[in-house]
Amino acid sequence: MAIYPDDGADRSKLLSNADLAMYEAKNAGRDTYHIFSGELSRKVRVRHDMEKNLRLAISKEEFSLYYQPKINMRRGEITGFEALLRWPSRNISPSAFIEVAEESGLIIPIGEWVLETAGVMLDNFSRWGHGAFSLSVNLSVRQFWGVDFIGFLKGVIARGHFPANRLELEITESQLMRDTVRSAHFIRELKTMGVAVSVDDFGTGYSSLAYLKNFDLDSLKVDQSFIRDLIHDPSDRLIVRAIIAMAHGMRIGVIAEGVETLEQLAFLQHEHCDELQGFLVSRPLPEEDVLPFIKNYNLVKGALFSD
Ligand code: C2E
Ligand code: MG
Ligand code: MG
Repeated sequence: MAIYPDDGADRSKLLSNADLAMYEAKNAGRDTYHIFSGELSRKVRVRHDMEKNLRLAISKEEFSLYYQPKINMRRGEITGFEALLRWPSRNISPSAFIEVAEESGLIIPIGEWVLETAGVMLDNFSRWGHGAFSLSVNLSVRQFWGVDFIGFLKGVIARGHFPANRLELEITESQLMRDTVRSAHFIRELKTMGVAVSVDDFGTGYSSLAYLKNFDLDSLKVDQSFIRDLIHDPSDRLIVRAIIAMAHGMRIGVIAEGVETLEQLAFLQHEHCDELQGFLVSRPLPEEDVLPFIKNYNLVKGALFSD
């Protein structure tokens, strides 16, 4: 709804503002209505600016990847890294701009750049004598709905010098559940190629646990929100314990993200969680700090993991 004359003094302005309100109603899940407001118009403008800046950033190659180590919980060894997108010149968190990138479709060129860059990093691991390290890349469902994502991915793997199973794709639970039939099909295609698949932010997406068995998954990443209060909140402990038991029952590995304290580490070790990521071990690192981190890792390991 847009109301004359406040929301538009002429026909075309009034119609275009009514259009904005309609899209807002559609975004809110349809079967509803929305009334145009100044607030909505500001929101649309901010989004529009962000989209324009994202387009520029793509052409000017302003993005970079940071890398956060993943650690084997029992032995304390590095198993690989997760690639995390950064937009250094803007200092905006990826969660803030990735949403706009998804809605505008710009996530497709951005995601392609991320995967190409990840392929180069996997080659670096081999050159550095760490060919067993894996690299996780976050994926939006938009990337595999529509364009020939599988064909693109095959190209990345063919151009690299790493086995496909060193590349792991992370998809959030809520995105996977948007279209379970499509997701199951997509995961099967990835698994046929040998690529590893994990579910990110697990526990927040309201998935029916029964669906999990239809997806051939390598690991679940327990959402940070359950790790944060692990020590003080008995129900979080219960949830984490249950996720680990269920995943292991289905032969799926479990990674805890956002581990910040030794107490959290001790609890997760006790519960036989497989891997951890978090500031306790390291923040995400710029590319040039990755090799030095690997070389000095024994010091960190000695401080956190007793034999
Ligand atoms: P995510 O994949 O769940 O990544 C984990 C987030 O937690 C990262 O935030 C990381 O920096 C942060 N983190 C890691 N350890 C700790 C810790 O100990 N404590 C706390 N408080 N935080 C920790 P970041 O880098 O801001 O990324 C946010 C989200 O943006 C990611 O969540 C992921 O969903 C998305 N994202 C990042 N890069 C990409 C990308 O290349 N493509 C897509 N589609 N999404 C991406
Ligand atoms: Mg992730
Ligand atoms: Mg996560």
